[in-house]
Amino acid sequence: MNLLLKGGRLINPFRKVDGIGFLMIENGKIAESGMEPHRTGKSGRKGPPPDMEVLDLRGKIVVPGLIDMHTHLREPGFEYRETIASGSKAAVAGGFTSVACMPNTSPVNDNRSVTEYIRRKAAECGLANVYPIAAISLKSEGACLSEFQDLKDAGAVAFSDDGNPVMNASLMRRALEYASSLDMRIIDHCEDRNLSAGGMMHEGFVSSEIGLAGIPGVSEDVMIARDILLAEFTGAPLHIAHVSTAGAVRLIREAKIRGIQVTAETAPQYFTLTDEAVRTFDTATKINPPLRSAEDRAAIREGLRDGTIDVIASDHAPHARTDKEVEFDYAASGITGLETSLALSLRLVDEGILTLPDLIEKMTVHPAQILRIPKGTFADGADADVTVIDPEKEWTVDRGLFFSRGKNTPFHNWILKGKAVLTIVGGRIRYRDC
Ligand SMILES: [Zn+2]
Ligand SMILES: [Zn+2]
Repeated sequence: MNLLLKGGRLINPFRKVDGIGFLMIENGKIAESGMEPHRTGKSGRKGPPPDMEVLDLRGKIVVPGLIDMHTHLREPGFEYRETIASGSKAAVAGGFTSVACMPNTSPVNDNRSVTEYIRRKAAECGLANVYPIAAISLKSEGACLSEFQDLKDAGAVAFSDDGNPVMNASLMRRALEYASSLDMRIIDHCEDRNLSAGGMMHEGFVSSEIGLAGIPGVSEDVMIARDILLAEFTGAPLHIAHVSTAGAVRLIREAKIRGIQVTAETAPQYFTLTDEAVRTFDTATKINPPLRSAEDRAAIREGLRDGTIDVIASDHAPHARTDKEVEFDYAASGITGLETSLALSLRLVDEGILTLPDLIEKMTVHPAQILRIPKGTFADGADADVTVIDPEKEWTVDRGLFFSRGKNTPFHNWILKGKAVLTIVGGRIRYRDC
């Protein structure tokens, strides 16, 4: 199908484009884009060819397909929580045309057969582009490195032991060296397991009041400090997952000033909620790293504003009811994020923390550059991955309507503004709500 998207506000952060524009899609690729009203076309055509569907997107925002570089699709092994198919549906409904999925499946994605399985399954359902992130260590146990070259050849885009911090600094050093020799990134879940042991929530005033064991912010900070030092020592690039503390923001900001190749992401829960939300004992508020203090949240927002934090990712972590409908101590950690991430992030624009192009850059160009995937722009000839956002659309989060199998969200019944209404992947409409 060939499409002409016209009348919308076209934002292409890579080229610093922001204005009323058009986008022509032919044979799955971006054929042409530009500003309105004038449009002659490179081919000299006047107006669209007859087989082209024309969509009038006045009042909407047209951006390169959003990329979520941190998601958990749970397949293989935990299909009762999510499948590649259900996760892909949630992705396109949330406006994401590409997702990178973490390796903590069963078996762990630490070898080519699992990487290939994920890619094959994703291709079969044909909704979002799915990029596997492979494990740093075998079974993510932190003992022996996995075979990076083989995993890269199979289609892995980065390495992470997400969920299992790499406690051994020597292993992390070798991982950084090996990955950088392949021009790939290590994505680190930074947590010192000795400091966080037994913790259920952020350690602070609220944890003392309600009597839950705490996870101190410094358990995240010491690992980030260690990994920044290792990145400096090895000269290898490093990406920090789900930044949640003020200390982390400060360390990353200082490292960037010193020229160390470090990038970072945070997730909407960390710039939206604080540990006050845990007072309800709702297990949907249990995540790792935990919801932090108001000071931490303020620092995350400032880190987004000043560019210390490069990326917004969802850390979409779907769980089954049986994982969450238990006592807080026993509940699994994680929030289902793909279908709320965009609207929660748009609040940063309303609140004046980010401009809309800056927000879109953190959800397109930056994750594409870190993962080294050819996405995130409207370059002529690029895959036609496009997200159309209705910035004024008010909607109520209803977990019962999620495409994701995971209904674990602390945002149930929240009224949000802004929604993806059209998601185009490779020139095909994969989600439409307009
Ligand atoms: Zn993690
Ligand atoms: Zn994660």
